[in-house]
Amino acid sequence: MKIPFMRLDRQYALHKDEILSICDNVFSHGRVLQGKEVDRLENKLSEIHRSKHSITVNSGTDALYFALLSLGVLPSDKVIVPSLSFIASASPIERIGAVPVFVDSTFEYHSDIDQIIKIIRTEDIKCVVFVHLYGELVDLSYLYEECKKNDVILIEDGAQALGAVNGDYILGDNSDAATLSFDPMKIAGAYGSGGAVITNSDLVKQEIIRLRYHGRDENRIYVNLGYNSQMSSIQAAIIEFKIKKMTEWTNKRIGIARKYKSHISSDIIAPKENNNITHVYHKYAIRCTNINRDEIKNKLSDLGIQTMIHYRKPLYSEPIFESYNVDKSQFPVTKKLTNELLSLPIYPELLDSEVDFIVESLSRFT
Ligand SMILES: *Cc1c(COP(=O)(O)O)cnc(C)c1O
Repeated sequence: MKIPFMRLDRQYALHKDEILSICDNVFSHGRVLQGKEVDRLENKLSEIHRSKHSITVNSGTDALYFALLSLGVLPSDKVIVPSLSFIASASPIERIGAVPVFVDSTFEYHSDIDQIIKIIRTEDIKCVVFVHLYGELVDLSYLYEECKKNDVILIEDGAQALGAVNGDYILGDNSDAATLSFDPMKIAGAYGSGGAVITNSDLVKQEIIRLRYHGRDENRIYVNLGYNSQMSSIQAAIIEFKIKKMTEWTNKRIGIARKYKSHISSDIIAPKENNNITHVYHKYAIRCTNINRDEIKNKLSDLGIQTMIHYRKPLYSEPIFESYNVDKSQFPVTKKLTNELLSLPIYPELLDSEVDFIVESLSRFT
């Protein structure tokens, strides 16, 4: 059996007629950039996240970069970031010339909130970037209160957490801005690249609208230096289609996660399932605690099961951050997780027989 980590080919085969008709629609009206599909998607994102504004851009990376800029992060400002995340949670900070301050993780994978609070109370921090890793929305209400008390900006990197819910909270409720990604690997992926910023601030919205198109204001005057980071109409329409499918697809991923969890041996720690949290399982990352992670990865690969590692290195160990010379002994949890984590395939197009095969194979080796 061959089970790739993602099956966008299978997703396309299942929804080919709808996707082709969306393309035909956009090509026929011809407004391929900033068409009505973009406005529609922005309205939909605001509705989902109960936010005043949503501004689409060309990637999740640009979304975070623009959010930082529009909220006033300047060169040399200190910005707290996770040590366990995708590179793009931290690289926009470097792009500004601001200074990333890495924090350790917890065994629930996300950044250690107690550690963040300790740092913002004692150091001069401008902003915190908090990542809802793998699709689990963390309750940030207390952190947001602490940030406001200490005059610190809070940005949620929600690239992996579109549609995730925690009790009464949804992405964007407890921050100054939240960012989304529509990378093809994400929950609602474009056939290309895309991202968005969600915010209640009129100023942030206006600034990002300028940044995404050459610094141009509503009077078509080029008031500041901007970029070209528009979302194309066709991607907006395809993302809108996938958002319509989101609840059904998320439920399928939740079903797969439950099956994995109920069969997993004591050599492995499965992600915790929490009652009032809708984890969207962008990733299903297990911890190989009593077995060698890379060995099991290879054995699964020999059987045709493709797994991945998110993430193999703490961010501060990546060459672009090496010059900060962080004290690596301060990150015991992240260090351990980077040696243990293994992501299993999890997508709505995965067949029951394939899930069974993954479960059987895992139990054979553990
Ligand atoms: C994917 C991702 C990004 C970047 O999004 P792109 O659309 O790929 O630029 C940022 N942060 C996290 C946590 C991500 O997973």
